[in-house]
Amino acid sequence: MATTPALSEDLLAKYEPVIGLEVHVQLLTASKIFCSCSTRFGDPPNTNVCPVCLGLPGALPVLNRKAVEFAVLAAMALECRINEVSIFARKNYFYPDLPKGYQISQYDKPLAEFGFIEIDLNESKTNGSKKKIGITRLHLEEDAGKSLHEGFADAASKTAIDLNRTGVPLAEIVSEPDMRSPEEAYEYLTRLKEIILYTGVSDCNMEEGSLRCDANVSIRPRGQREFGTKTEVKNVNSFRFIRHALEYEIERHEQVLESGGRIEQETRLYNAAEGKTYGMRSKEQAHDYRYFPEPDLLPLVVDAKWREQIVAELPELPEARRARLVAQYGITEYDAATLTSSRSLADQFEEAATAAKNPKRVANLVQGELMGRLKAKGLEIEQSPISMKGVAMSADLVESGAISGKILKDLYDLAFERGEDFPAIYEKEKPQQITDSGAIEKLIDEVIDTSPKQLEQYRGGKKTVISYFVGQVMKASKGQANPTLVNELLAKKLEG
Ligand SMILES: [Zn+2]
Repeated sequence: MATTPALSEDLLAKYEPVIGLEVHVQLLTASKIFCSCSTRFGDPPNTNVCPVCLGLPGALPVLNRKAVEFAVLAAMALECRINEVSIFARKNYFYPDLPKGYQISQYDKPLAEFGFIEIDLNESKTNGSKKKIGITRLHLEEDAGKSLHEGFADAASKTAIDLNRTGVPLAEIVSEPDMRSPEEAYEYLTRLKEIILYTGVSDCNMEEGSLRCDANVSIRPRGQREFGTKTEVKNVNSFRFIRHALEYEIERHEQVLESGGRIEQETRLYNAAEGKTYGMRSKEQAHDYRYFPEPDLLPLVVDAKWREQIVAELPELPEARRARLVAQYGITEYDAATLTSSRSLADQFEEAATAAKNPKRVANLVQGELMGRLKAKGLEIEQSPISMKGVAMSADLVESGAISGKILKDLYDLAFERGEDFPAIYEKEKPQQITDSGAIEKLIDEVIDTSPKQLEQYRGGKKTVISYFVGQVMKASKGQANPTLVNELLAKKLEG
C-alpha cells in the first residue's frame, strides 16, 4: 500500500474523516439465486434468462440453497451473528435493467449482523497495532442486469440491456462508519477480500464485477460527536481508486465547508481518468424504496443444525493461519503475512514445507533466499520464477548434502536471471557429481584418518556418527560427491 497520505496535515488537524463501506460480492453458485439460469460470466447477452429472472407475470422465485450456505459461510468468517430467521423484502425502484420493477433483497431482518474485521494500522504489520471495524450486517440479494453503452450497432444513440446478470446472488456487506482515513478503508477492503477469498464463496474479481464497493464519506470538526453530511461514491473499480476517490471527496468537503457552503447528501460517480467525483443524483432515503416483505418467499430459516453443517466447511482463516505459520515454522510475521496473502499460496508453502525433509529449511529459504530476490526484481510472490515445489526440492538437496549453500545461491540467481523454475535450472546446471568410487574412497580414507575419536564412537555402537562422516566427505568433495555412493562406501569402510 502507498504510504504517503495524500491529505494535508492542516486538513487532518481540523477535520476528522468518517468512512463506511458497502461491499457487494457475487457468490460463486452455478445458478442464480431464485431460478436455475446459469451465472456464467461472458455468455452472449440475454441467453441466461427465464420467466423468473425476467420478471414475467406469474413466475415464482425459488431460493437457491447454495447461495444461503455461501452467504452464511462469509458471514461466519466475518464474525457475524447469524439470524435464525431472516426475511426477504422487495426494494422498489424503476430502472431499465430491473425488469421486475423491484429487487429482492433483505431489509430489517437480514441474514447476519454484528461482525467485524481487524485491520493493521501500520504498514509493517508487525507491532500488533490493530483496529476493529464493525460490520453492521450481511444480507442476501439478487443482482440487477447491465446497461450496455458500447460494443453494438446503434451504440451511439441507444442503450442495450443484458439481463444475464439479473438474479445472480450477491452478499452485501455493510460496515459501520468506523474508518477514519482512506488508508483504513483500503486496509479494510484488502482484509475483507482476503477473508472472502479464503472462504471460497466468491472470486472477488473486480474487473468482472464480482466485488463492488460503494463508499460513504463525511467529515466533522475534530472533537464533534455528530457526523457531518455524507456523500456516497459509486462506480469505483479498484481499491486504489477507492482510496483516491475518498481523498478527493474529503478535500472537496473541506473546501465546501471552509468556504461557508453546505454538503448535499448525494450519490457521486468517480471518474478514474480525471481522478474526480461528480454529483449523479440526490441520495435516496430508505423510505423511497417502499420496502415490504416479499410475499412469494417464506422467511429464511437457518437453524442450529444447518448452521453447524455450514460451519464445518469453514477453512482456517488468514489471521489464524498467520499465527500458526509463525509458531510452526519459525518464520517472521511479515513473511507469514506474505505467504498467507492467498489461500493457494499458503497451501503451496505448507505442502512444500511438509513434503521437504526439513520444513524449517523451506521456511528459511523462502525468507532468506526467495523474498530478497523477489523484492530486488519488484515481483510479487505469485510471479516468482521459483515455485514452492522448487524451493522444497532445493531444500532437500541442501539437506542431503547434494549441493552446498553456495551452489544453491548460484542456482537461485540463475533461476531469476532466466525466469525458469529451480528443477529445470538444477537439471541443466547441477554440479558435476563425483561418481568414481575410487576417488570417493580416497576422500573417505582421509576423513577417517583425521577423525579417530568419531571412529571409536562409531565402532563402540553409536551408529548415528555416520552422519558426521557423510558431512565431512561431502565437504571435502565440495558438495560434488554422489551422496548415495558416499553413504554406501562409508558404511563399508567404517564396519571394516
Ligand atoms: Zn432465470
